[in-house]
Amino acid sequence: MIKKTLFLVVLLIGFMVTAQKKLPKNKVLIEESVANHKIDLIKISDEIWSMAETAFEESESSKLLADYAEKNGFKVDRGVAGIPTAFVATYGSGKPVISILGEFDALPGISQKASPTKDPLNAGAAGHGCGHNLFGTASLGAAIAIKELMEQGKIKGTIKFLGTPSEEKYFGKIWMVRAGLWDDVDVNISWHPSADIKADTQSSLALVDFKIEFFGQAAHASADPWNGRSASDALELYTTGINYYREHVKPTVRMHYHIQDGGQVVNVVPDYARLWMRVRDTKRSGLMPVYERTVEMAKGAAILANVDYKVSLISGIYELLVNRAGEEVMQNNLELLGPISYTAEETAFGKKIQEETGKEQVGMDSAIKPLEATKDHPGGGSTDVGDVSWNVANINLGVTTAPKGTPWHSWAVVACGGMSIGHKGMLYASNAMAMTMYDLFKDAKLVTKIKDEYKERKGQEVYKANIPDGPPPIPKN
Ligand SMILES: [Zn+2]
Repeated sequence: MIKKTLFLVVLLIGFMVTAQKKLPKNKVLIEESVANHKIDLIKISDEIWSMAETAFEESESSKLLADYAEKNGFKVDRGVAGIPTAFVATYGSGKPVISILGEFDALPGISQKASPTKDPLNAGAAGHGCGHNLFGTASLGAAIAIKELMEQGKIKGTIKFLGTPSEEKYFGKIWMVRAGLWDDVDVNISWHPSADIKADTQSSLALVDFKIEFFGQAAHASADPWNGRSASDALELYTTGINYYREHVKPTVRMHYHIQDGGQVVNVVPDYARLWMRVRDTKRSGLMPVYERTVEMAKGAAILANVDYKVSLISGIYELLVNRAGEEVMQNNLELLGPISYTAEETAFGKKIQEETGKEQVGMDSAIKPLEATKDHPGGGSTDVGDVSWNVANINLGVTTAPKGTPWHSWAVVACGGMSIGHKGMLYASNAMAMTMYDLFKDAKLVTKIKDEYKERKGQEVYKANIPDGPPPIPKN
């Protein structure tokens, strides 16, 4: 038995040595850079994690990232695109221009300690249930590794780290796209915390968000209801219409609503009601007719309830444009890096989360799988990286930061993002993205190939930011 174990250990060491041998010298320098900044990066990520600031209110989180970029020699423009928490950190000059995205906003109501059982850090407060504390910090780590290679004269060009706020609510990147922040960029890099590692070859869903308000006439609900015109009647009729409409849309369409105001008390006929409505489809082209119909239905509901109505666009995002040429570069680097290894404690932490959330107790999955075929109609969520991907060639990565099967946007993801499972994924993402960027800086033909695929996939479609004119909806005070 001992002999067998010894043999395995020797084999493993042998494998690790060969795996390391495969890394070219400059990619070893990338690993060293990430390792040198590791303590700072973990500290920044943990601070963002514990502050858990939400949509457009991420002032401290944004500052932590922007300050660290500045301290590392980047020129930082803060408050870009009319968003106080958005920034661009630039280093270098000339072509190619490679950008990398950093998100840092949290989700309301899912505060959680770095513990494998549900236990809020601050009851009712926000939490990083999408791992954006890791997202922004990993991207900054990758940008710094590239900057250091430039400083050493190993590569030439421009690296831009973009601090992109409010992904979870208003989709801040749309305003940043409209401000032209990617106009001079050749290729953009992005990633997302996940339950597995992959060069992302799948698109995301396009969506549109809008607000419907109904305006009626208040009256005593019992003494003189005939004087009342109920805004909440209109709201109920509207959602009933939506729920009937579900049967007559394509299976790729999703419709969700959130009743924000349905009246205040039981004995008043409500004169005001408000609904946040969302429509999604796998393609923006399929989404728009459904969107137009759901807007028309507000008029129908208002007629039935004899009230007035108003529809206001909040924002809408495009589906992701996949770039397989770019993902192949990422895939090569994932294969160079190999899977993440976990300690027995980390595996036990992951399994406990799986037990608590009713999932199979298999721990983390960090195996490097072959590049997937791109599906025509992917399921899943939406991201404002979609809008970036319609304006510049985009490469997307997913890295394991939580155990397999973990419910996303939940306490379980918050828990992992504040401890070593999340930290390991974050540092891994820094390495994978920096190595991919390095390949692009080194090989102009590769950049051209990626840009050509982007142009071909975009085709004749003209991008139009789906947001109202005027400034972004920054919360007051
Ligand atoms: Zn996210």
